[in-house]
Amino acid sequence: MKAVVYEQFSAPPRLQNVPDPTPSTDGVVVKVEATGLCRSDWHGWMGHDPDIVLPHVPGHELAGTIVATGKQVTRWKTGDRVTVPFVAGCGHCRECHSGNHQVCEHQFQPGFTAWGSFAEYVALDHADLNLVALPESLDFATAASLGCRFVTSFRAIVDQGRAKPGEWVAVHGCGGVGLSAIMIATAMGANVVAIDLTEDKLDLARALGAVAAVKASAGTDVAAAVRQITDGGAHVSIDALGHPATCFNSIANLRRRGRHVQVGLMLDDHARPAIPMDKVIAHELEIYGSHGMQAFRYDAMMAMIATGKLMPQKLLGKRISLDDAPAALMAMDRFEGTGITVIDRF
Ligand SMILES: [Zn+2]
Ligand SMILES: [Zn+2]
Repeated sequence: MKAVVYEQFSAPPRLQNVPDPTPSTDGVVVKVEATGLCRSDWHGWMGHDPDIVLPHVPGHELAGTIVATGKQVTRWKTGDRVTVPFVAGCGHCRECHSGNHQVCEHQFQPGFTAWGSFAEYVALDHADLNLVALPESLDFATAASLGCRFVTSFRAIVDQGRAKPGEWVAVHGCGGVGLSAIMIATAMGANVVAIDLTEDKLDLARALGAVAAVKASAGTDVAAAVRQITDGGAHVSIDALGHPATCFNSIANLRRRGRHVQVGLMLDDHARPAIPMDKVIAHELEIYGSHGMQAFRYDAMMAMIATGKLMPQKLLGKRISLDDAPAALMAMDRFEGTGITVIDRF
């Protein structure tokens, strides 16, 4: 099969011919029909993820059709249209037994712990527990865009942040995660303040439901601006970018007893950011992470997509071919363009 492979971290990935994958006993092989390009793929390529063993194929936001199943697989068959959360649980550890597959002790992550979906085919382990059936009405490109950023935002807003109707939600960074969070928080009845550096991303944020916007240009006190707009601070705030400045602002702009959810990755030099711990104590703030979402929680999200309350197709940006993927991956930290780039030609 054709696959995008890198043999060294930060050296240009190349399109290569590699052997087709075979399914593990509890896994399947999926013919990839669409796969999203995410900043986590860029982090992996830079060498920020200790799980990656070289040579490596990136790609973790995927949708496709099953072409082979392992002996132990009972829920799936060849021809089924599926997607998968980027963290797949093992099914056997304490976290999986408590229903928290997203923090499994032995997680399977396509594109990180195993070869991913920047390829014609991808092998997925623990299929019965983690695969999600796609309704015919959901196209592959939209389904692929759900796998990482959209589900992580859904969990961040609904399960971790617990955003309620009428509450203020601040979203720092309007890339794929941020725009997803804005759409989801708006659908939950919250009032969203969007924060970004660029006007075109804020325009998209407003189009997706944000009722206020803050342009975070140099010299702007973002936290003060959000506290003023929200009359005392946001109830829920998301760092959707993953940067010490956005993380700090997202905590500093909360009202008393507010909830911060860190979604954007903090790796390498950014892994230990300064946060206003004095405020966390004095105002009883809550600090959460959000790391994927269990397959069984897709039902609630899929129902909101089926009824049109959530329209992830609006978040799609450029569609590119597998040939274009190496250059697009290397350019990922420049934050060019808006929305989610999807590879849909192989
Ligand atoms: Zn587990
Ligand atoms: Zn991702």
